[in-house]
Amino acid sequence: MEKARVVIVGSGPAGYTAAIYAARANLNPVLFEGFFSGPSGGQLMTTTDVENYPGFPDGVQGPKLMTLFRQQAERFGTRFFKEDVLEVDLQKNPFLVRGKKSEFEADALLIATGATANRLDVPGTRDGEFWQRGVTACATCDGAMPIFRDKPLFVIGGGDTACEEALFLTKFGSRVFLVHRRDALRASKILQDRVLSHPKIEVLWNRVLHRVDGDSVVSSVFLKDVQLEEIEEHKAGGVFFAVGHTPNTSFLKGQLALDDKGYIQVKPGSCRTAIPLVYACGDVQDHVYRQAITASAMGCQAAIEAERDLMAMGR
Ligand code: NAP
Repeated sequence: MEKARVVIVGSGPAGYTAAIYAARANLNPVLFEGFFSGPSGGQLMTTTDVENYPGFPDGVQGPKLMTLFRQQAERFGTRFFKEDVLEVDLQKNPFLVRGKKSEFEADALLIATGATANRLDVPGTRDGEFWQRGVTACATCDGAMPIFRDKPLFVIGGGDTACEEALFLTKFGSRVFLVHRRDALRASKILQDRVLSHPKIEVLWNRVLHRVDGDSVVSSVFLKDVQLEEIEEHKAGGVFFAVGHTPNTSFLKGQLALDDKGYIQVKPGSCRTAIPLVYACGDVQDHVYRQAITASAMGCQAAIEAERDLMAMGR
């Protein structure tokens, strides 16, 4: 089996930045980019304008930014594998890292697998019902589809993602409704202001999604007013979940401690996990900031910690 000093799992801002730093430290990193788990580049691949990543005063498209990250990691010699990691064995070092085709023994393992958009388990939205027939968890990926054109569209959630998606969907829908379970948005002020002042967006406060109905595709949603306990029906062409994310840790099969929300636990102020030479960086361990820039910074931090820990152990 091939040996690697550093194996990085995950290809968002955290994984690519870890690769840039590890490669420049002559640690010859191997990076598993994923395959079925989603596009290489992580969540930014399904984003349009990124306006808050420093260095791009006019904004940059998410996929473009991730292409640049990858090119920079490649320039310093990172080896990429377009595979998901199926399992790891962290019981002894070197660690075993097994993909579908490739296997490595790794001195250090950097986990940067990010998080995946959540869905709600509501009648009509499940697989085999209207899931992917008008119900999705990514407006930026699916919003431009013809089925959503000139229809009333419903975004569920009150965070930054929900607001961004509602704004994005105004390009396609006849009207966009933001359905939020309470009476205040969680989103940043700038996005709240844009949503609340947009002529095509209406916020439906204190409502939750109760049921989705249609024929071949979605044609109506039933919302529950949580204060009045009343159900109301609205004509609808699409439902977009924007209700947070779940960290991608299933391949770990319980070998690392997770917190109560499923994020990998790290030692305070570092990316070190409870297992020496195993690090977690980006959205897989961070439920506070969850930004491209903070994920990227954590990738840098994890790579520097790995380099220093390997050196301290004489490896
Ligand atoms: P989030 O901040 O966790 O917001 C999730 C939203 O979904 C909340 O409004 C929450 O309601 C609602 N929700 C959760 N479970 C629900 C349920 N069962 N039923 C109904 N509603 C439910 O997630 P996010 O918007 O995806 O953002 C994730 C992180 O990425 C955040 O740190 C955010 O700042 C960041 N982000 C930043 C940008 C940007 O800066 N441009 C863009 C996108 C995301 P409550 O508010 O009542 O909890």
